[in-house]
Amino acid sequence: MGKSVTSASDSAQIHQAQLLSSTRITPEASREEVWQLVFRTNDPDFDAKPGSCIRVLAPGEYGNRYHPRLYSLADHDYTTAGTEFALCVRRCFFVDDVNGEEYGGVASNYLCDLKPQSVVEFSGPVSYPFAIPTDPYTNLLMIGMGTGIAPFRSLIRSIYEKHGSWQGKVRLFHGARSGLEMLYMNDANNDLALYYDQPTFKAFQTVSPRPAFNEPVAMDKTLEQNAAEVWGMVNSPNSRIYVAGLTKMQAQIDKAMSSIAGSPEAWSEKRQELVAAGRWVELLY
Ligand SMILES: Cc1cc2nc3c(=O)[nH]c(=O)nc-3n(C[C@H](O)[C@H](O)[C@H](O)COP(=O)(O)OP(=O)(O)OC[C@H]3O[C@@H](n4cnc5c(N)ncnc54)[C@H](O)[C@@H]3O)c2cc1C
Repeated sequence: MGKSVTSASDSAQIHQAQLLSSTRITPEASREEVWQLVFRTNDPDFDAKPGSCIRVLAPGEYGNRYHPRLYSLADHDYTTAGTEFALCVRRCFFVDDVNGEEYGGVASNYLCDLKPQSVVEFSGPVSYPFAIPTDPYTNLLMIGMGTGIAPFRSLIRSIYEKHGSWQGKVRLFHGARSGLEMLYMNDANNDLALYYDQPTFKAFQTVSPRPAFNEPVAMDKTLEQNAAEVWGMVNSPNSRIYVAGLTKMQAQIDKAMSSIAGSPEAWSEKRQELVAAGRWVELLY
């Protein structure tokens, strides 16, 4: 059962979950270290929905009790033993401007180093940014980079496995530095391939043209190469566009969409219209 947080800054209820398994889902040789962590909570108050986020309360530093950070659910299931949920976590590092040393991000390193049976504290779910539309004829255009795939994996599984079927078009644009780092769509782990034979599902992958030089993933080019499909969905009143991943993808999407729309002004106007109608939802971090 959840207990209440007493800190004035966070009045949300705290839940606990035990780590069932922890698997690195990018290759050992890759600089990108992403782990899939599967947890179970017995807390009946935890009400997960596809695409929702939770706030992991990693142990704090410098006298702070917690270091809270948000993570999207990559999956969840209600079982007789409790609610099982998966997170897809990228190990973060930053370089200190003053001494040039590299430090690990607190919560991501805590999670990536966690051993099975460990218990974590978390609150939430804190939001459901990517709700499943009630009308199964809704077209869904999802654009995700890196760990931005997490909420979409959960959504795609839910609409095809739990919802029954989906008549609207589901288009997933996913980007990673290289093919091996394409989360849930690489040689070792390709669970999104389960949906390739769904007549309404299509996935588009995009990588960096020069991964060794850290050149950005060419999401803009992939969107432009599929301009007719993308623009058709943008302009269909019965569609939603969901975007998730690192903030740096925003510039690429704006560039591609401006080119598809004809000008930055035309795209800006269209984007405002989509946001106002609740048809464009972004989760960038
Ligand atoms: C809604 C939402 C959903 C998210 N979902 C996911 C997800 O599914 N998977 C995922 O991996 N992440 C996700 N994130 C990101 C996640 O919440 C964390 O921000 C991320 O894991 C880094 O947290 P951290 O505690 O490891 O790093 P922190 O310790 O908080 O550091 C984070 C960054 O802060 C900067 N920084 C901090 N201290 C310094 C310093 N002293 N000097 C210079 N720079 C510094 C650096 O840029 C560093 O990379 C999500 C974020 C949001 C907002």
